[in-house]
Amino acid sequence: MTRLVVVGSINMDLVTVAQRFPAPGETLLGERFLSVHGGKGGNQAVAAARLGAEVHMVGAVGDDAFAQPLCDALAAEGVGLEHVARIENCSSGTASITVSSGENQIIVVPGANARLTPMHVANAQSLIACVDAVLVQMEIPLETVEATLRIAHRLHVPVILNPAPAQPLPEEWLRLARYITPNQHELATLLAADPSADFRSLMRRAPCPVVLTRGAEGAWFREEGEPQYQHGFKVEAVDSTGAGDTFNAALAVFLHEGLPLAVRRACAAAALSVTRLGARGGMPHPAEVDALLA
Ligand code: ATP
Repeated sequence: MTRLVVVGSINMDLVTVAQRFPAPGETLLGERFLSVHGGKGGNQAVAAARLGAEVHMVGAVGDDAFAQPLCDALAAEGVGLEHVARIENCSSGTASITVSSGENQIIVVPGANARLTPMHVANAQSLIACVDAVLVQMEIPLETVEATLRIAHRLHVPVILNPAPAQPLPEEWLRLARYITPNQHELATLLAADPSADFRSLMRRAPCPVVLTRGAEGAWFREEGEPQYQHGFKVEAVDSTGAGDTFNAALAVFLHEGLPLAVRRACAAAALSVTRLGARGGMPHPAEVDALLA
């Protein structure tokens, strides 16, 4: 069984559906409200656990009413929470989302995610030393991302860095990652390059191996030499939220099969994830992935 550590964000998404957006100072009656468990870290941990991995999360929640349900949802999927910190006098991460006529407005408050420090990662070192891979994204402080890369590198544990949301990073950090997994926009931002540049030339410029996602088209990957292509799987797309998270999780879970096979499985798992509503709703079990690949 693959063993993974996920270092990342845990959020509660608060979604309001309304006929239109309120003007400043205006109070509107909305149509519907729902709260959805999210955060790239939490989502990737759940996707990996559903795919059969043993997963441990390094993250943080606050001391508010969302903290316990967020932890309970991860625990219910079998994610280990021994390194999820409870930060006092702090809110859990939230995303307040208003949806109207297919458009949305979003305010993210990182809350406890912004208080996940290098020390929290250092405290998980003995766990990191015995896993197959570490997954990290960028919804936590960059110094914590750097600590994750450095600690895992020192322990010879491969790190998959999902550079989302996009920010430029020092080249030296990228060299510490076993793979980076951007989409085209994220890769250009990461390399401080022209976003309209050809993605294959951007991939060749990256100082480490790249797995680049291209939505329904699939993914490209390059360790050295020319970028290779894995086509996407044809599915009835319902909701693409969480496709990237499922892709990253599957890549980490199946990395031991070698990169081309892991990317193929990641494309299949991510395709299945878009066939159902919600980021976590569509995350598949291994048998579904096998069936799509058969
Ligand atoms: P998000 O942040 O919305 O999750 P992303 O930009 O990180 O998205 P995408 O490139 O959109 O990631 O999607 C990740 C992977 O999911 C793709 O490489 C592809 O394999 C799969 N995928 C996404 N959308 C579809 C689709 N409509 N049909 C089939 N596969 C899809």
